[in-house]
Amino acid sequence: GIVVLGSLNMDLVAYVAQAPARGETVTGRAFRTLPGGKGANQAVAAARAGAEVAMIGAVGTDGFGTRLRTALDRSGVDTDLVRTAEGPSGTAHIVVDDEGGNAIVVVPGANSAVTSLDHGDEALIATADLLLLQLELPLPAVTAGARTARAHGVRTVLTPAPVPARPLPPALLAATDLLVPNQHEAAALTGRTDPYAAARALLADVPEVVVTLGAAGCLYAARGREPVTVPAPRVTAVDTTAAGDTFVGALAVALAEGRPMPAALAWASAAAALSVQREGASPSMPYRAEIDAVLAP
Ligand code: ADP
Repeated sequence: GIVVLGSLNMDLVAYVAQAPARGETVTGRAFRTLPGGKGANQAVAAARAGAEVAMIGAVGTDGFGTRLRTALDRSGVDTDLVRTAEGPSGTAHIVVDDEGGNAIVVVPGANSAVTSLDHGDEALIATADLLLLQLELPLPAVTAGARTARAHGVRTVLTPAPVPARPLPPALLAATDLLVPNQHEAAALTGRTDPYAAARALLADVPEVVVTLGAAGCLYAARGREPVTVPAPRVTAVDTTAAGDTFVGALAVALAEGRPMPAALAWASAAAALSVQREGASPSMPYRAEIDAVLAP
């Protein structure tokens, strides 16, 4: 199965015509609370894509915590190792304007309590086919997860988001098999805006890199091989929230099943293309049969 070590956040979304400037108050049109967090999103995407998925993370003792846990349970994600930490759950405060632009404040809350792994976490990671990591948990825990996986021969896939102010810990990169930044993250990590140049630079640290390029698809680079681009299906996007998390979740499922990289990328691209045609983060994520149908001849 797949193990996700990552964040759970409640997304608190206000929809406005135009986001307020500093000191200004505007009246919004609507408000929604939606379960999110990069870790939880990737877990749901992988579960819908057909894998057995378990999550390691933390929620708070507030009402959001109960809802976040229940949302994962309902998606079929095992939450036995999601702790409950005293205090508020992680929240993402999102303002979406009429042009679809957004501004986001993430308050880590309970996610900050995941500073280390215990024996149960390590035992679970040791038996996984693949470990998914992002950067919304404290770096020591993310690094510990990657190292545990590496020690047991478990493949690790790291989404380097949000990009930290400082360089990534060498111990984390050394235990990462596949790095999956989007174009902005690849540029921020390397100082190179050209995705080919960025991917090449990242290969100094990790053996395989996939740079996602939005509607342009993705770029796959591996040491000692010519990089290849995989185009995205041409679709009409209505909401690209969590496109990257859907992509990574589906990619993880395909890789855990032993599919070779180009086929796995085509499958992940099909999953992400389905998600951008529908509203929301996890509600937009496709099920396995839908993904297969896109690629059926
Ligand atoms: P993120 O969501 O992390 O910013 P991207 O915008 O690169 O990452 O999107 C991730 C993946 O989602 C892309 O590689 C692509 O497969 C898919 N995707 C995103 N936007 C579109 C789109 N407009 N049409 C088709 N696929 C898309």
